Amino acid sequence: MNATETTMPGRQDADRDFGLWGATAEPAPATPPLSGDRDTDVAIIGAGYTGLSTALHLVERGISCICIDAEFPGFGASGRNGGQVLPGFKDYPAQLKAHHGEERGEAMAAFGAGIADRLFALVERHRIACDARRSGWVHAGHHAAKLAEQRWKHDQWVSRGADVAWLDKAGIAALLGTDVYVGGWLDRRAGTVQPLSFARGLARAAMANGAVIHGATRAEAVVAAPDGWRVATSRGAIRARHVVLAGNGYTGRLVPGLAGSIVPVESAQVATEPLDEALRQRILPGSPCVSDTRRSLLYFRLSPDGRLVMGGRGGILTRTGEGHFARLVRAVGLIFPSLAGIGFSHRWSGKLAVTMDHMPHLHEPSQGLIASLGCNGRGVAYSTAMGEVIADRIATGSWDGLPMPVSPLAPMPFAPFRRIGAATVATVYGWRDRLQGAL
Ligand SMILES: Cc1cc2nc3c(=O)[nH]c(=O)nc-3n(C[C@H](O)[C@H](O)[C@H](O)COP(=O)(O)OP(=O)(O)OC[C@H]3O[C@@H](n4cnc5c(N)ncnc54)[C@H](O)[C@@H]3O)c2cc1C
Repeated sequence: MNATETTMPGRQDADRDFGLWGATAEPAPATPPLSGDRDTDVAIIGAGYTGLSTALHLVERGISCICIDAEFPGFGASGRNGGQVLPGFKDYPAQLKAHHGEERGEAMAAFGAGIADRLFALVERHRIACDARRSGWVHAGHHAAKLAEQRWKHDQWVSRGADVAWLDKAGIAALLGTDVYVGGWLDRRAGTVQPLSFARGLARAAMANGAVIHGATRAEAVVAAPDGWRVATSRGAIRARHVVLAGNGYTGRLVPGLAGSIVPVESAQVATEPLDEALRQRILPGSPCVSDTRRSLLYFRLSPDGRLVMGGRGGILTRTGEGHFARLVRAVGLIFPSLAGIGFSHRWSGKLAVTMDHMPHLHEPSQGLIASLGCNGRGVAYSTAMGEVIADRIATGSWDGLPMPVSPLAPMPFAPFRRIGAATVATVYGWRDRLQGAL
């Protein structure tokens, strides 16, 4: 079988297809639906990393919470992502200071620098079984024109004493097992998890510490009530002093303006059959996870069971389709010619939330109503860390001393057309990549 004739199953129900992660995850904890009305300190809508980490950190602070998900823990991006645990943001420290001022920018940079550390520490503290590995992240330059910017990003972290290293063409080839990249840098603070196992492990840890989690419970309305809020759900109502909106790319119209503040876009992945020992020695021999500098970036890693997992853009205006998966299959063959002809066992996709400024957003549109969303495809470490920040905000009653700015909830300009705009940008990015000889 060659690389284009794959063994991938048809996508009968894309929403429920977790691909390789679904097939290899730790068992799901029982999270039966809500039944009847409940009172709690905090109602959390969405059981991905944001919601689950908020729940865990709240109960660790002695604050009761009920976390609901329309489906189950890890149903959204948290059960489907690349599992790349990356420090920092799309904006680097100097850019954060330029955009947010010296003090706030420094706080954000310091927070971003530590988010991968926090995730790995949380995994250890709660003994979460999720194949956590700290074997670094390579930001791989696909074209010489990208190297100056790459070097600048690398230098930003060097000046802050981070454990990063510059890679020339030979160095990156040795670490990745391919000579298609012209250079880049290695961030040793980063690593990988099995994403769905991590979500399930967070849910277990939160419940073991007293959090209540209900699956199959969709929030249908959030309305102000005496002493806080009332969340009407498909299975009963929750009264709470605070509500945390943690729907990210799956955010609906519960709160005016929230859905319009992001563009939900899909990202897709394919997984090969397990590599044999000879290939395993040659493909990603240093076992880092990787994303490259294409505007329409490719990201890849080895799975815990020794497959190559390749990811890239999925659908924006439409669902992810054959063309998106075919591009990823082609990418595997171009980046790793020795994998030409390998079979592909899984393919899947999920929704992430993109913002105008490519930074995640934190909002408190009314007292006690908190929303954290917009991870721009880089939210494994960030969303998990934000759970602790949100729990601190609720525990202390203040944002003082907390790292992320709380911004007004602002719909994107031309909000009704934002998906068309994003699809146009993605198309232009694709053309520009091809002008640079990329896929
Ligand atoms: C394919 C893909 C690959 C990615 N790869 C990486 C990566 O390698 N590294 C990285 O850092 N980031 C990556 N990301 C981004 C990362 O996965 C997300 O930023 C992160 O998982 C967001 O977590 P979350 O909890 O905020 O949202 P989600 O995990 O999306 O959870 C939102 C939840 O809210 C629920 N929900 C929504 N509305 C309601 C409602 N009304 N009632 C009840 N429940 C509701 C949904 O069912 C869902 O479970 C990737 C994303 C995708 C899609």
